[in-house]
Amino acid sequence: MSEKQVRTDSRSKEAFERAKKVLPGGVNSPVRAFKSVGITPLVIERASGSRITDIDGQSYIDYVLSWGPLIAGHAHPEVVEALKRTAEKGTSFGAPTELETEMAELVCERVPSVEVVRMVNSGTEATMSALRLARGYTKRSKILKFEGSYHGHADSLLIKAGSGVATLGLPDSPGVPESVAANTIAVPYNDLDSVKLAFERFGEEIAAIIVEPVAGNMGVVPPLPGFLQGLRDVTTQYGSLLIFDEVMTGFRVHLNCAQGLYGVTPDLTCLGKVIGGGLPVGAYGGKRDIMEQIAPVGPIYQAGTLSGNPLAMTAGYTTLKLMTPQKYEQLESLAARLQTGLEANAREAGVPMTINRVGSMVCPFFTDTKVVNYDTARTANGETFRAVFRSLLDGGVNIAPSPFEGWFLSTVHTEDDIDLTIEAHREALRSL
Ligand code: PMP
Repeated sequence: MSEKQVRTDSRSKEAFERAKKVLPGGVNSPVRAFKSVGITPLVIERASGSRITDIDGQSYIDYVLSWGPLIAGHAHPEVVEALKRTAEKGTSFGAPTELETEMAELVCERVPSVEVVRMVNSGTEATMSALRLARGYTKRSKILKFEGSYHGHADSLLIKAGSGVATLGLPDSPGVPESVAANTIAVPYNDLDSVKLAFERFGEEIAAIIVEPVAGNMGVVPPLPGFLQGLRDVTTQYGSLLIFDEVMTGFRVHLNCAQGLYGVTPDLTCLGKVIGGGLPVGAYGGKRDIMEQIAPVGPIYQAGTLSGNPLAMTAGYTTLKLMTPQKYEQLESLAARLQTGLEANAREAGVPMTINRVGSMVCPFFTDTKVVNYDTARTANGETFRAVFRSLLDGGVNIAPSPFEGWFLSTVHTEDDIDLTIEAHREALRSL
């Protein structure tokens, strides 16, 4: 047994058994339990830069990065320093601060669709609130989403969802009332014809389309040329709103988010992950006339005791300020290096593999099929994924424990990290 495999019989295992007594499944979010890969999860002690270290003292090159937020790496010294300074002044006031205005100004400057923004505490809150706003603004009830997309766990969005729901192979969640589910229409991603058909039938009742402009919860699936513009056109034609859920892609794929990258401007944008720099933040924003329908200016209600929290704003603002255009170029070339290496490994080992990548979101699918939607994502071989996942861990590389999640890179991953990762992956494919 290799040294790393011993880990699962040691402190992590004990700690996880203890956790299971008081936390459902030992975790506060399902995918962390490693259920789908059948081993004890790493119980983490600390992390720094591109490395994460478990309580057994084993260190891994990390491509999970807290599921996306840590684009500047773990415990970036400037972020930590800024947090200390802010904490000394108090951690929450429940009152306006200049910090939240500076943050909002930065978001409005960088995100093309956003003129006014409201801060919340998670991606789920952002999408849930944006939907309420879309429904209140259009006075319509139905929404259209895409199969295999995940927009957080609000009732109306937990229909044909990706991410952990797909990983655990769950059908639509019990607890979502049928009356709520009936208002959600789900069609295949990248399939404009299905969208148009749905609008021909229900167009006057559809408040909004919510879409991940790059789908990141069924692996990584870029929009086909014309798909996002097609959504823009059909929503405009029917007086529905277009909501980009950029919780994952926002400030990850481009300085100006996916909407900057693809040149399509939605009515509303949801943000999360990177915008919080590792603290709990979400946001939703858009055109002024729509956003000013929310309280206190308008009648649509949404609130939050800790929204705009000074620590959260500090981590987010400092992280966004670190992300210059050059940093995105650096991420692009690092990620391209990773992609090339992984592809060469698959060719050498004769393992069917297709890589989808948008900037620093990278997803190797173990399939020969071109992956354009949830059905094609599901052609990937789960057994191969599980075997490779375990070998990578043994080789000191931490990726998300699911074939439906991509790998994230940070600006502090080095070429050496990438090359070590490619070598571990080569070993993993060889030993299949
Ligand atoms: N939307 C997207 C696109 C996401 O990827 C996620 C989380 N992975 C969410 C919404 C929900 O965000 P949170 O987990 O912060 O509630």
